[in-house]
Amino acid sequence: MTEIWETASPRETWQLGYELGKRASAGQVYCLDGDLGVGKTVFAQGFAAGLDIAEPVNSPTFTILQQYMDGRLPLYHFDVYRIGDVEEMEEIGYEDCFYGEGVCLIEWSRQVAEILPETAVRVFIEKDVEKGFDYRRITVETE
Ligand code: ADP
Ligand code: MG
Repeated sequence: MTEIWETASPRETWQLGYELGKRASAGQVYCLDGDLGVGKTVFAQGFAAGLDIAEPVNSPTFTILQQYMDGRLPLYHFDVYRIGDVEEMEEIGYEDCFYGEGVCLIEWSRQVAEILPETAVRVFIEKDVEKGFDYRRITVETE
């Protein structure tokens, strides 16, 4: 199933993340793609709030993986923008996250396309300059 959402502010993107976070279930993997500054981390922050995570969520760009264990389910937040090789994912033990009891969110998932589960939910965020600076089109694809 493919659903397309349009947002007109960071708050609306946050809210969509929040709604999906509320509905997320154990073992799900969410792939988050789109250009730099498009709103992946804003979405992730809403998603974390939807999982009842109280800790502040930031872009884990310099650490690849940030774990949040205080919510309804564990959240494994990856940002693989700067990854050199998928071997780095093996080193941090990604399989325990992808195939565990928590929920994974992977910013820049295309960088690690070869290891993504087929069942992953795909979230694409795009701008459209003709529709305004804060406009985003968010496509959510589930199996
Ligand atoms: P990414 O993680 O994709 O690199 P961020 O979430 O860190 O991007 O940043 C998105 C930026 O775009 C923020 O500064 C945010 O305020 C701004 N922004 C403007 N409009 C929107 C929108 N509709 N949805 C999400 N972010 C938006
Ligand atoms: Mg980010």
